[in-house]
Amino acid sequence: MSTHELHDGFGRGISYLRIAVTDKCNFRCVYCMPEEGVPPRAHGELLSAEEIAHFVRLVADEGIRRVRLTGGEPLVSHRIVPLVRELRAIPGIEDISLTSNGALLPRLAPELREAGLDRVNISLDTLDPRQFSQITRLGRLEQTLRGIDAALTWGFDPVKVNCVVVRRLQQDVFGLARLSVERPVHVRFIEYMPIGDESTGTARAHDVAEAPRQGPDPHCPGGVDASAWDASDTVPSEELRERISEAGVAAGLGALEPVGEGSGPSGAGPARYWRFPGAAGTVGFISAMSNHFCSQCNRMRLTADGAIRPCLFSDAEYSVRDALRAGDDARVLAIYRDAIAHKPQEHEVIEGTERFMSQIGG
Ligand code: SAM
Ligand code: SF4
Repeated sequence: MSTHELHDGFGRGISYLRIAVTDKCNFRCVYCMPEEGVPPRAHGELLSAEEIAHFVRLVADEGIRRVRLTGGEPLVSHRIVPLVRELRAIPGIEDISLTSNGALLPRLAPELREAGLDRVNISLDTLDPRQFSQITRLGRLEQTLRGIDAALTWGFDPVKVNCVVVRRLQQDVFGLARLSVERPVHVRFIEYMPIGDESTGTARAHDVAEAPRQGPDPHCPGGVDASAWDASDTVPSEELRERISEAGVAAGLGALEPVGEGSGPSGAGPARYWRFPGAAGTVGFISAMSNHFCSQCNRMRLTADGAIRPCLFSDAEYSVRDALRAGDDARVLAIYRDAIAHKPQEHEVIEGTERFMSQIGG
């Protein structure tokens, strides 16, 4: 095993790979997928578990140390447990994590743990059962809550909860942040990103700071009409943190306190962490829109159909599928290095992309 790490054209070491195991999902979140799901694709279009594992074996030699399995919903893939097991056996891979909506975790957590999965992130945007069903279209709140319970029970560490905040949804963000008080749960608030197309409801006005403030959706009282969402729906992390902290004081929990560098949950990445006094877990903020973290970006993405994507916000992709299938390792690595060399310095303006988030591997 070689230990060298590849660097891109801007000196960033590339050590983290996010893999979309599938583009399918058992939910249909309004901001991520069209109601009918992603267009069906021929079986052969998607990488097999063996092909994914082989790719990881090759890039582990080029400095990849951490792998995240995502999608789509990675747990709807029947290959997920064997894939984790194969990845665990690859020398150099130090950390395997998974991002999930949690619904299938109660069933799969023990097998995933035994196969060698280190940690999980579970997406949960609201604690209101009705709103949860409106956002996810096919999901029920209790499924995801049980998924969080299962993750804690089976010893995944850390357990992170990801919440995408959308202004006009008026989510109870303090209620979500409170999940961190009693149990070692790390609740992270993510700024909504206008990505995808009209069917996922992403108009493309981009200046978060100058966007007008909005109330509940007038066209869809009590409902979720994502087609009207725009940049004003991105709530800057700073504003959110102040709101949650004030609610903490009002509820007698105290204000959020910053968690020192290095004391946050492992795999912290671009999140900044805070904590209610004495809480078991933390509250994190990921400011993909208001505060770009491109200068520290150490990641590449592999799409479900075998394309390397150097930046979430750029449609430039480099397919390794044919080379993988031809058994041409040298070609796979040449394409990988080329993709790294073309990783953009930063995303100035979020343009929206040709693909849905579920296809890219959010
Ligand atoms: N199905 C899994 C899940 O929901 O956790 C993994 C895939 S999902 C695409 C990964 C994450 O991307 C989720 O936390 C989801 O909320 C987030 N996401 C999807 N579309 C988004 C958007 N437009 N802006 C911000 N986050 C988004
Ligand atoms: Fe599925 Fe995750 Fe997208 Fe929701 S965010 S539709 S759970 S892939």
